[in-house]
Amino acid sequence: DWTSFAVRVAPLGSHGLVLVLAEDQTERHRVEAVRRDFVANVSHELKTPIGALSLLAETVEGAADDPEAVRRFSGRMQYEATRLTSLVQDLITLSRIQGGEPMPTPRLVDLDTVVHEAVDGCSTRASAKNIALVIGGLTGEQVWGDEELLVTALRNLIDNAIAYSPDRTRVVINVREVQDRLEIAVTDQGIGIPEGALERIFERFFRVDAARSRATGGTGLGLAIVKHVAVSHGGDVTVWSKEGSGSTFTLRLPVVGAADVPTPLEAAK
Ligand code: ADP
Repeated sequence: DWTSFAVRVAPLGSHGLVLVLAEDQTERHRVEAVRRDFVANVSHELKTPIGALSLLAETVEGAADDPEAVRRFSGRMQYEATRLTSLVQDLITLSRIQGGEPMPTPRLVDLDTVVHEAVDGCSTRASAKNIALVIGGLTGEQVWGDEELLVTALRNLIDNAIAYSPDRTRVVINVREVQDRLEIAVTDQGIGIPEGALERIFERFFRVDAARSRATGGTGLGLAIVKHVAVSHGGDVTVWSKEGSGSTFTLRLPVVGAADVPTPLEAAK
């Protein structure tokens, strides 16, 4: 890759000295390119359900005397509207944690509450596929952070585990302490992720299979949100996966010590 420099030359006093300022522009260009791609992606992702909705509206109009068709088309309209809502919700969350708004002040958060709220939020989707959500591991642990963001992150992981698993399987949510970190692992018995895709999985809008992801109602933003939430809490998120047998996503957060002072949550770059 080329490195690009902006060079400015200015004469300095009357002694024939010149000041040369060279500024590395590579990072600035990269950030601009990422932003342009993001806007293009967002526009595309918004256009898809909107296009589908207006087409469906036209079709429904033409099928007014066929109640069965009306029922079918309005079901699909509802589905597209839901997709649009989750996309907008994800975009709001992303912009919140990407410095669009001040980050919430960290508080002591009960991990049990986070786990139970996330599991409750996913239970309808799980029962629709007969998937058992199993909670295991430590109880009574606390972390510094924002409860709502942590629930959103864990929900995204559990939602994915459900979406990319066959019916009648198990999703295990396990909490344990490893060295000075609390690990929340979400393990599924799903389709897994091809090795070549693993390193891109946390990128915004990256999907292993766009068609399949759309069919499951995904936005491609879920894991980007998880990563930003983890990093803003001084933690991280990793993935282990084997195609055909399942995946484990592990969210790691710093353990709260007795003498701890909260570190401010950091907006992600
Ligand atoms: P999406 O809304 O498409 O699910 P995410 O950012 O949450 O977007 O995930 C990105 C992609 O990673 C998904 O499209 C899917 O291909 C893959 N993925 C995420 N979680 C899992 C999982 N538990 N099992 C298999 N594939 C997964």
